[in-house]
Amino acid sequence: MTRPAPLPPGGTIGILGGGQLGRMSAMAAARLGYRCHVFAPEPDGPGMQVVAAVTVASYEDEAALAAFARAVDVVTFEFENVPAATLATLAALAPCRPGVEALRICQDRIEEKRFLERAGVPVAPWRPVHTAADLAPALAAIGLPAVLKTTRLGYDGRGQAVLRRPEEAEAAFARLSPKPLILEGFVPFAAEVSAIAARGADGTVAVYDAVENRHRDHILDLSFAPARLPAAVAEAARRHAARVAEALELVGVLALEMFLLPDGTLLGNEIAPRPHNSGHWTLDACLASQFEQHVRAVAGLPLADPSRHHDAVMRNLVGPEGLARWSGLLATPGVAPHLYGKAEARPGRKLGHATRLLPLGALAERAEAELLHGL
Ligand code: AMP
Repeated sequence: MTRPAPLPPGGTIGILGGGQLGRMSAMAAARLGYRCHVFAPEPDGPGMQVVAAVTVASYEDEAALAAFARAVDVVTFEFENVPAATLATLAALAPCRPGVEALRICQDRIEEKRFLERAGVPVAPWRPVHTAADLAPALAAIGLPAVLKTTRLGYDGRGQAVLRRPEEAEAAFARLSPKPLILEGFVPFAAEVSAIAARGADGTVAVYDAVENRHRDHILDLSFAPARLPAAVAEAARRHAARVAEALELVGVLALEMFLLPDGTLLGNEIAPRPHNSGHWTLDACLASQFEQHVRAVAGLPLADPSRHHDAVMRNLVGPEGLARWSGLLATPGVAPHLYGKAEARPGRKLGHATRLLPLGALAERAEAELLHGL
């Protein structure tokens, strides 16, 4: 595949979404000599604070979208719940990377599961649950425990219910419907693993080391980079992410979230077609971060070397409790602290993160208490 002409220095990248992923992408873009223009419905998002231009308008505002498309050279998104129709409108007016099809697939858990299966990534057993009548046959096919999820707009554990007993199913269905739902087998995972893959406009792929993720209250708490896994399993995780980027014909970066079964099998769970929280460690532990890789792909530049020069542990700073760690982190040697500029420290909000850098190999050798001390 030939690479489109690269965006020249001084060009403008349009970013849909005003959150921290756009903020960190814009900071990477600035380092590469680009300007960014954020389009989002809410004013003063973290992304808006660091860019050259801002449009505050609804994703349905066609006039605002047309003006945005005229003002930028290429469009990307940092938030996968941007309506696919918004990206389709923009795609008629400006190059959009990733494209509408990748966004559409990743917005719907059923499409996503089918896509993963086609790409050769195994997934947990699943059944669509579109109506109340679908529930009993789905339960019979999947068994219990199982997880009932909305197919769209779920994140950080929202829009899902774990079913352990048959009598819980109806109430969960009533709470989550009328949205289309999916019933998944509950995966008794040994660990949660993810890998970030970048695919350039010329079809080249660069994959970061797979990481191990821990959640707290359904929100990512810690990422350990690299994942402490047998080499063959870690390689398989990277290969799955690369295969998904290729099959999606993605131009940009994606995260593939996976479950690791006790026997070493990896099951694909979710694709995020954008920079991802489990890749924040790349800002400090790699020569080129996931955000730089994303900007390079979107701008038609060659991808960078994704190799890791340090081991890393990343902790999210969530809500007031996370913010309370800030001054201590600033004074901790070997830790790179990041804040996103959010006005309010509401509980459950990701306000920043901190990454501890360690010598290569330290993660496998040191006790966890030592790795986390002061983080
Ligand atoms: P998701 O929104 O699909 O990323 O799910 C959020 C979190 O819920 C995951 O990171 C898991 O910790 C848990 N989870 C989701 N689906 C399953 C499943 N099928 N089996 C076990 N745990 C799950």
